[in-house]
Parts: sequence; C-alpha cells; structure tokens
Amino acid sequence: MDLLEKCRAYMRADEARDVGLYPYYPTFQGPVEGGQAILDGAEVCMLGSNNYRALSVNPQVIGAAQDAIALYGTSATGSRLLNGNLDLHEELEADLAGFFGYEAALVFATGYMTNLGVVSALAGRGDQVYLDEKAHASLIDGARLAKASGAMMRWFGHNDPDDLARQLAAAPTQSILVATDGVFSMEGDLAPVAELVAVCEEYGATLLVDDAHGVGVFGHGRGVIEQAGMQGRVPLMTLTFSKSLASQGGAVLADAKTVDFLRHTCRPQIFSAGLSPADTAAAHAALREIRRRAGRIPDALAAAEHLRRALDALGYNVAGSASPVIPVRFPDQLAMLSAQRILVDHGVYTNAVLPPACEGYQLRIACTDAHTPGVLEAAIGVFAALREDLLPRYRQVA
Ligand code: PMP
Repeated sequence: MDLLEKCRAYMRADEARDVGLYPYYPTFQGPVEGGQAILDGAEVCMLGSNNYRALSVNPQVIGAAQDAIALYGTSATGSRLLNGNLDLHEELEADLAGFFGYEAALVFATGYMTNLGVVSALAGRGDQVYLDEKAHASLIDGARLAKASGAMMRWFGHNDPDDLARQLAAAPTQSILVATDGVFSMEGDLAPVAELVAVCEEYGATLLVDDAHGVGVFGHGRGVIEQAGMQGRVPLMTLTFSKSLASQGGAVLADAKTVDFLRHTCRPQIFSAGLSPADTAAAHAALREIRRRAGRIPDALAAAEHLRRALDALGYNVAGSASPVIPVRFPDQLAMLSAQRILVDHGVYTNAVLPPACEGYQLRIACTDAHTPGVLEAAIGVFAALREDLLPRYRQVA
C-alpha cells in the first residue's frame, strides 16, 4: 500500500457529493456585500461570513489596500527577519499595541500562524500548556508542536475556571501557558475572562486569549478583554485580521521583551514571507475605522440578537450564543447537511460544521453590520417557511 492509497480510499466527500449534499468549497462570485453574496450565479443572504463589521467592502479599506499596492507592489518578497519588513508592518504594530493597551505587537501572515507560532515558541521542555477543550485548532496545533519539543499538554473543561484552578493547584511548575478563545468560533459563547485571569494570577500561570472573533465587536472594538474590564491583566492576546479587520494576517500583543523574543524565535514568522502590503494596509485602515466607531455598539450584535430571538420564537435551538455567531444544532450529519442545502436552495447561506470543529452537527450563522433589518427579515422569512422541513430534523436533538 503506497502513501497515496488513503487518498484513493477517501470517500467521505464523495458520499456527500453523490447525494447532492456536499457543502464545502462553495464558489462565490464577487464580493460579499450588503449581507448578500452571489453563489453559483444566484443571490443568497450571506449568514456565514466573519466580516462582522462589513469592512471588506469599505471604501477606505479598499483604498488603503490599493494605495499600498501602488507604492509597495504586491508582495513583501521575503521574511520580515531579512528583507520583507516594511514600515507598513511597523506602523500597524505600533497602532495595534496602542489601541489594545500592550507594550508591543507582532504581525503575522495569518491568525493561524500567529497562534501556532506563539504557543510553540513560548512552551517547550519543562512547561505546561492548558487549553480550553473547545479552543481553536490553531491553539491546539501550537500546543501539539510545543508537546513535540517536550511541553506537557492538558485540557480544562470548556469555560470552566474551577476545573482549571483544580488542575493548576496540582501542577508541579508555574511555567504554564493557559490558552483560550475569547469568543468561541463555533458556539458563539464568550470566555469568562475575569475568572480565568483570577485563576492564572493565583497560580502564576500566563494567560493567552485569542480574540479572533471578539476584536472589533466587543468592548469598544478592543474585544472581550476590555469587555470584562481586564485590560492590563492578560499578558498575551492574539487576534486575526481575517474577521472584523477585513483582511488577512494576525498579531500577538504582549510586553516588549516577549514580543522581541517572539520576533526572533517564532518559526511561522521567521520562515514565511511577511504579510503583503495590501493586506497590511487594509488591516490598518480597518483598525482605524473600528477605532473611529468605538463609541457605537456594532450593528452585528443587534442583528444577531434579533435573529436569535426570531429563530428561538420559531422553535430553533439557538441557546448558548452571546455574540454575532449563532449555532443551530442537528442530530446527525445527514439532517444538518440537508438543512444547509434546503436553506441554500431558498437563498440563505449558512456554514455546515462537523466534528471535530464542533461538538455534534450544526449550522453556524454569523451576523455582520451589513445585515440590515430588510436583509434579516428576508432570511427569517425563509427560516419560517422552512420550519416544517427543518424542525423535524432539528427536534431529534437530545
Ligand atoms: N483563531 C480563531 C478563534 C479562529 O476562529 C480563526 C479562524 N477561523 C483563527 C484563529 C485563524 O485565523 P486566520 O483565518 O487569520 O488564519
């Protein structure tokens, strides 16, 4: 049996394709604008995007990316460590650090690489990494790399600071990284940041909050740490530019010495080209826009609240979410995939999510500032019309 035998034997995607229920790699034409998108030539209500502040189509953000290409070209052309470090990167880092209240920031090419690099650079032999059991794959993969270089990898119960405290009380070292998402990307619930800070401070552990989905949405744009009143108490924060910041890339925020260490030791940073000029400038313009709007509650939150209530009233189970992300659970893969297909056929796009990305089978809905009442009402109308089709699939959930 050769190496590629497993690929030839892989049937999972084909099985879904064969029954017309394959939901992945859908092809969208054109930008996702106004809460809508064009899918296979037809307009759909886009309820599956992380473009929470709808800034990917904002004229200032687009203009900044265009100007950066005109001035710097299309590529950073190398690792930042050597030739790919641009003043654009450093200006963005200075503004990120200032806005989020940290001494320094380091920009990476993706959010995934940020978490992978930070966790694996900071933890190794003699260290312990504790992860929330629903932490994002990028934190998990960073911890796996840390484990490969000798760190111990442990889990604590989802959003369960008491479980974490019990485990830390018995830990043989204080050289501990505790990592959690700020907003859980599939469940839409928020980490109990204040309680986690208290436990970490008590046991001398270092807390990392990946606020990929909270930045731009909560706490005047600064995310769940600010919302919890914990600014200055979380030593490590990571974020991505691929959601509210309407670009590509990610960043870690920390004290200056830690960031300097990471600049020289993070392998995904050193061995990969710097973030492109357009992506860097777009993220920076989006950050300025979020800072400018800091006094206003994002429309995405109001849209999500409205949609959550409407779905709840229709009998869908939307419990647990407190963010623009709304999960709707189904008893099995077939029920979830059929529901996703029925919704798409009626002009509503939601994300189909399977284990291990989440527990069970769910449609993941995400609201953005572009979901105006008109757009939402149309989508709610579809959920209402499909009630009899979708709810029987749904009601079987234990
Ligand atoms: N962290 C979390 C919580 C995420 O949800 C994601 C992406 N879905 C990432 C990190 C990775 O971000 P990126 O898309 O920039 O690689």
